[in-house]
Parts: sequence; C-alpha cells; structure tokens
Amino acid sequence: MAKAGGLGDVVGALPKYQNQLGHIAKVVMPMYRTKFLYNNQWETVHKGYTHLGNWWFNYTVIREKTNKLGFDLYLVDIYGLLDREKIYGYGDDTERFTAFQVAVVDWLAAWKHQPDIVHVHDHHTALIPFMLQYCYAYQHLGKIRTVLTIHNAQYQGWMGWDKSHYLPAWDSWKSGMLEWNKTINPLASGIKCAWKVTTVSPTYLVEMRTAANGLEALLEYEKGKCSGILNGIDNVVWDPATDTYLGEHYTAETVEEGKQRNKKLLCEEYNLDPKKPLITFIGRLVGEKGADLLPQAIEDSFYYIGRKMNFLILGSGFPEIEAKLLAMKGLTRGDYNVYIGYDEGLSHLMYAGADFILMPSRVEPCGLNQLYALRYGTIPVVRNTGGLHDTVIDYGDKNGYGIRFNNASVGDMTHGIWRAVELYQQPQKMLDIRERIPLLDFSWEASVRSYLELYAS
Ligand code: ADP
Repeated sequence: MAKAGGLGDVVGALPKYQNQLGHIAKVVMPMYRTKFLYNNQWETVHKGYTHLGNWWFNYTVIREKTNKLGFDLYLVDIYGLLDREKIYGYGDDTERFTAFQVAVVDWLAAWKHQPDIVHVHDHHTALIPFMLQYCYAYQHLGKIRTVLTIHNAQYQGWMGWDKSHYLPAWDSWKSGMLEWNKTINPLASGIKCAWKVTTVSPTYLVEMRTAANGLEALLEYEKGKCSGILNGIDNVVWDPATDTYLGEHYTAETVEEGKQRNKKLLCEEYNLDPKKPLITFIGRLVGEKGADLLPQAIEDSFYYIGRKMNFLILGSGFPEIEAKLLAMKGLTRGDYNVYIGYDEGLSHLMYAGADFILMPSRVEPCGLNQLYALRYGTIPVVRNTGGLHDTVIDYGDKNGYGIRFNNASVGDMTHGIWRAVELYQQPQKMLDIRERIPLLDFSWEASVRSYLELYAS
C-alpha cells in the first residue's frame, strides 16, 4: 500500500504470518494516495467525527475487500490531511499523524471488536498507548495491552507544548508521560506508556542505550520491558525463483547463471561492464545510511584499487548527496552509474544482478537490504553495527559469507570494497558463498513466534 523503507516491509508481512498461525491480526494505517488505493476495491466500515484541538474533522475508515494481503487492511481517510502522495515530509506532519492517531482511537472506541493487543510502530503511532490510558473519553479501552516497536529511534516526532490540546481531553496529572526533555516527545511517550517495547534487532537494543538521539537514559531505565526481535523477510515476495521484476528466475542451484543474466540486463541498461564485479547501494541517501561517504569511497576505490569494479547506486535523500552522485556520472568510464529516485522494480533487479551490496550505515536498527541481498545470492559489504552485526558474518570467520568493516569512514569502506574485489577474483570461493547464502533462513516464521510469545507475556 505504501512503503518508504523497512517499516513498510515489516507491517506488510508480520500480520500475514501471524494470521497463518491462527491469530487475528489486522492493520490500520493512513489512506495515502498510492497506486494500491486506486487498483483495489474498498468498502466503508466506519464514518466518524472528532477533533484535533479546536479543529473538528470527519474521517472514514475503509477496508480492502478481498483480503489479498493476507490480513484485513483498514485505511483512515481524513480529507485533505492524509490523502497525499508522499507518506511524510510535509510541514504539517505533526497535525497529520496526530489526527490519524486520534481518529484510530476514536474508531476503536466505537468498534464492535476490542483487540487484546494494539501494536504500534514508531513515533507516528506512539501516542496511542498514552491516549488509551489517559484520555477521559477512551478509558474503557484502558485495559488493552500495547506494544511499541521502534524501527528507528532517531526520529521521535517532537512537538511543542502549545500542541498538547491536539489530544482529546486527558488527565493533566499525567503530562510527564508525554514529556521528554521539556517537550512532547511521542516516541518517549510510547516507551513510557506501552506495556512492552521492542526494537528490530538485539544489537540495536543494546546500542540504543548509548545512542538513541537523546532517549538513552529512558531506554536504560525502561530496559526491563524492552526486547530486540530481528525482522524477517517475506520469502514469498522476495524469491528469485518467482520475482516478476527479474529478467531471469533462478534458485540456489542455478544462482551463478541466473545472476549473470540479470547482471547483463542491468549492465546494458546502465552502461556498465559485466565482466567486472558489480557493487551496488540501495537506500535512503542520508547520513544514517553512510550515503555521504559513497562519493569519496568510490573515487578512492578507483584511485587506489584501480578501475576493476562497477558501481550502481539507487536512492534518494539529501540533495547534496544526490547532486554529488549525479555529478560523478561525468567521470565514468563505463563503471559507474546512479539512479536518483525510488524504484521498487529496479531494486529487485539490483539485488539479483549485483555481486555485492554496500551498507556503510552509521545506524542500522535491523536493515533489510542485506537480507534480501543474501536471498538473491548477493554478498553484503557492511559496517559492523546494529542488525548488520546480527545477520552478517565475515567470510574470514567460521561459516562466514559477508564482508564487515568497523568504522563508518571512507577508509574502512574502501578497504571493504578492496576485499570484495579480491574475493571476486577467487571464483570458487565466490561460488561457494553464493550457493550457500540464499539458503540462510531469515524468514518471518521465527520472528513471528517471538512476537506471539511477547504478546502472550
Ligand atoms: P530503512 O527502513 O532504514 O530505510 P531498511 O534496510 O530496513 O532501511 O529497508 C529499506 C527498504 O527500502 C528495502 O526494502 C529497500 O529495498 C527499500 N528501498 C530503499 N530505498 C529504495 C529506493 N530508492 N528504491 C527502491 N527501494 C528502496
């Protein structure tokens, strides 16, 4: 329905697998104007009228009719506020997501079902645990247990106290449950009010106690209710044997030929030399992902290692990084290209056609790219942090299959690229790793059970 990164992948897959295990999981999210909205059939299940401070608004809850995603998907339509093409990045995001949360709780209060658990994701929904407990109108919902999953602690949804009236009348003795560092901090409120808090890898959980954009002390204090559960990947959607975006389907047995054909397609399209190793980067072009290091690391690689490899970059983000990467196209000798934008199809083809994927992240709560890459037989070259630490073993270590480096620096990344080029020159070793990695199990099955145990607790 809508995806900007890993959160979209998780919320699209987790409920499907929960349902398969006999639970009833439903999803509610804002009604953005996306292709999925126009290409599917919907029925109205609720119409309501509520308010954000002094502003009264109508909202409509619609449901996808055919259950095609494997769960009931409900969308909240708030005319003029949520129904936009982008998910976030507007000046009124505070109003948009607060109104969304108010509407959801208002709908829950009128709904004929009462959930056992409400599971909220990131700051855009993190005020809901507070509202369920401390808004007078919703106190009959106060017994519903809540779980908050933190996909990224960098973004917290801060808002000034002048906006505290956005929430339906609440018990002002509880203002401390909204506050962190003298401002309303929705993510901090979620951490305080939710019954359980999870994050998307065990290592990121530990790292957050020393680096969580100001929430370190809170996470240390609340650590008793926190746990780290690794994201899975949807093996049905991400399967090189059936993926409709690929030029050639393949399995672990046919990985070598399958990848060659897809690589050839990519190289033709992006003017690259298929004989050289193809090193890619897919993701948001932001400092968190180490994307600012890419231009210099690529130039240094060409300079120090020689023009022995190709680079292909897919992403969008900071204009300065985009501009630098685009400008570098001028220096290419058929060994560098970049596509600025978001392109789901191209990303799938890149996972299939690339030899290596670069992830120099400064912060990586879980990271899905490396998991997709592994499934498609592509070797990850990653900084040793967060979920990357939990999922990638260096090929120099026992049972290893990836390349790890320790610092988010140009030097370390260039060294990682050098090791990739060295590895590529040992075809037997490459083949051994390539045949092994698609069989590693990072599917949802294991993670879903951990969530169900958490709910049960
Ligand atoms: P994050 O959620 O921090 O962005 P993750 O690694 O958890 O990072 O998830 C990123 C997801 O978004 C992956 O599915 C990746 O393929 C996808 N993605 C990121 N940028 C792009 C892009 N420009 N085009 C297509 N897919 C992208």
